Amino acid sequence: MLVAHFPAPNSYTGEDVIELQCHGSPVIVSQIIKTLGRIGIRSAEPGEFTRRAVINGKMDLAQAEGVNQLIHARSERASFAFFKQMEGGLSQLYENIRQSLITAIAVLETYIDFEEDADEESPLLERAINELETAQTRVEELLSSRRMGQLLREGLRVMLVGRPNVGKSSLFNAIAQQDKAIVTDIAGTTRDCLENIIEFQGIQVDFIDSAGIRESSDPIERIGIEKARRALDSVDAILFVADASTGWTDEDDAVLRSLPARNIHLIWNKADLQQANPIQIREFVTVSQTSCLTGEGIDAMLERTLTPCIANSSDDVSLAVTTVRQENLLNRIQTHLGHAVTQLKETQLPELAGEELREALIASQELLGQTDSEEIYDNIFNSFCLGK
Ligand code: GDP
Ligand code: ZN
Repeated sequence: MLVAHFPAPNSYTGEDVIELQCHGSPVIVSQIIKTLGRIGIRSAEPGEFTRRAVINGKMDLAQAEGVNQLIHARSERASFAFFKQMEGGLSQLYENIRQSLITAIAVLETYIDFEEDADEESPLLERAINELETAQTRVEELLSSRRMGQLLREGLRVMLVGRPNVGKSSLFNAIAQQDKAIVTDIAGTTRDCLENIIEFQGIQVDFIDSAGIRESSDPIERIGIEKARRALDSVDAILFVADASTGWTDEDDAVLRSLPARNIHLIWNKADLQQANPIQIREFVTVSQTSCLTGEGIDAMLERTLTPCIANSSDDVSLAVTTVRQENLLNRIQTHLGHAVTQLKETQLPELAGEELREALIASQELLGQTDSEEIYDNIFNSFCLGK
C-alpha cells in the first residue's frame, strides 16, 4: 500500500490529507475501510471535499459549482466553460459587482451623513450613481449570457416529426450515423421515442425520433404518441419532415396543425427522388432539402436549423452564467440595483436606496458563498458525486 501525505494548506481541501493507494480488490478495500472505521474515520458525504475546500477558503462557491458542472459536462464547449468557472473567471466578475456595491454604499452613507441637506448638486451622489450604473452594466452583461449557460448546462433538444414513411427514422440515423432507430417500410413501426445525441458547435444536441404524431388505435403505438406529445412541449426546435417525392399532402397538414406553433423547420426528405416544389407555409422558420440515400443536404440542414438556436448567446463561454442559482441571484441584484438607482435619481431618497443596495450586496455575497446559510451549502453539495 502506498500512503501519500498532502500537507495543509496546499491540499485540495486546504487540510492535511492522507491518500491511501491499495490494490483494487474489493475485499482489501472493504477491510481497510472497516479498519479505519474502528478508529473513528468515516466516509465523506457527497461533495464534502469541495465543501471543505470552500469553507477553508481554497475556492468560492461559484468555483465549487464549476467543479460539479465540469464532472457532468455534456460537451467540449461546456467543459471548457466549467473549467474557466472552476478557475475563478466568473468569480472575479461577481467580485467586481460586489466591490461596486460596497463602494456605492460607503459613498452614499457619507452623503447621508454630511451632504444630504446641501442645496447644490452633490458630487458624492453622482459618484454613487456612477458606481451603481457600472454595476448594472456588469449584471446585465452576465445575465445576457444565461441563454449560453443554459445551452452548456442542458444542451438542445430537437424533435423529428412528420407523417409515417417520410424518412424520419432514416434521417435520425443519418444524423447520428448509427443505427439506433428502426428503419422500415411499414408505417408506424417506430413506436416509442428514441433519442440520439450529437455535438454541434460544441453544444450537446439531443435528437428525438417521435412515433409519428397521429391518432392510432394500437394501444402500444398510442403510448409512444403520448410520450412524443409530451416531449414536444419541451423541445427547442421541431424538424418537420415531409416527402419531396409526394409533395405536401393533407396528412402533412394535419400533423402540422397538431403541433405547438414554435420554431418549426421544414425538411423535404427524399430529395434524391424529386426536388420538392416550393410551398409557402409561414409556420416554417427554415426550409431544407435532404436525402438519406445520398446523405446530401443533411449537414446544411443541421447548420440552418440549429445555428439560430445557438446564436444570440455570447461566444465567450468563459463568461456564461451556468447555474440557475447564480442566475436567480443576479436577477435579484438587478432588481434591487434598478430600484436604488431610480430612488437616487428621481425621488432623492438615499436612505431607501441604501436599503435596496444592502439587499443587492447580500445577493452578491451569496454568489460567492459568503453566507452562513447551511441550506445554501446543502443544496449545492448534495448534488455532488461521492469523493468530490
Ligand atoms: P419514418 O416512418 O418517417 O420514420 O420513415 P423511415 O425512415 O422509416 O423511411 C421510410 C422509407 O423511406 C424507408 O424505405 C426508407 O428507406 C425510405 N427513405 C428514407 N429516406 C429516404 C431518402 O432520402 N431517399 C429515398 N429514396 N428513400 C428514403
Ligand atoms: Zn420512423
